[in-house]
Amino acid sequence: MSAELYPWFERQWQRLIAQQQADRLPHALLLSGPAGVGKYDFAERLANLLLCHAPLGSAPCGQCHSCELRQAGHHPDLIRIGPEGVGKPIKVDQVRTLIDHLHSTAQQGGYRVVIMEPAEALNTSSANALLKILEEPGDRTLLLLVCHQPGQLMATIRSRCQRIDFATPSPADASAWLAETLGLEADRAEQLLRLCHGAPLRARQLYEGDLLEQRKKLMTGLADLLRDRVSVTDLALQMSKFDLLQCLDWLNSLLSDIVRMQLAGLSEPAVNPDMKRMLQALAKQASSIKIFALADRIQEERVSLMLRQNPNRQLLLERLLLQWSGLARKT
Ligand SMILES: [Zn+2]
Repeated sequence: MSAELYPWFERQWQRLIAQQQADRLPHALLLSGPAGVGKYDFAERLANLLLCHAPLGSAPCGQCHSCELRQAGHHPDLIRIGPEGVGKPIKVDQVRTLIDHLHSTAQQGGYRVVIMEPAEALNTSSANALLKILEEPGDRTLLLLVCHQPGQLMATIRSRCQRIDFATPSPADASAWLAETLGLEADRAEQLLRLCHGAPLRARQLYEGDLLEQRKKLMTGLADLLRDRVSVTDLALQMSKFDLLQCLDWLNSLLSDIVRMQLAGLSEPAVNPDMKRMLQALAKQASSIKIFALADRIQEERVSLMLRQNPNRQLLLERLLLQWSGLARKT
């Protein structure tokens, strides 16, 4: 088995293959673009191809010793690096271990590939340590930095990589793929994509994982909060176990629905049609000052989460929920 090549990345793939066949691959690639569109699988696929001893065109053979090692999950020349937990940084010790590994071990007769994701999790000291590898990576070594927020990456790192940009696929491509992959009706696929800013892999994850369940609990909780059926503290406690960035995103999507309904006098929410009644009520009651104040707060919390400032999750949620519950109040 090899990582899937998504049809919307065909152009980037062909260009890299041409580079590889001309023996002009750089030492480091920065795979940059929004989360959930398939950059990591692209990196895996490239790694699989480069490690294979007998590739069939631009696909790994799946049968050579190198492919067997990889499929068994312990190929010594394929190194994956990431934070030890969601929201944690990639530590300088991890990068130093990588440097030692690259300097001390012999290759299996082919490429050596490092996949780092998300590269924006490098902090200043680990990024500085990584610069050493980027300057002298060693022969036939490729670093693949998968990055969702290239602006957060040190400029000196960015400038030493060849950058490949990955955009969100067109809604038609994304929904066709999602509907086929999950065996869904087109409507349902489109609805899932709307909840994920059009990112198809994120939508698949949403469908397959417990994220949809989290969203349902969040939405029920928010509606209950407006009707004083749950306290801010209890709901915050429940949500503190959820994917926090995702929760902020969903909260934000509710606010955009309300604003669009107010501005255009629409009766149907575009992103969250399942929350129509709650959103219709809020579109009537909530002042735009309160809505934009909450949207600003969400944005601030997003940034602090992405900068990994490790906020107190319970407190963060309580503040947001308090503001949410105030949307329907007159004062
Ligand atoms: Zn092979």
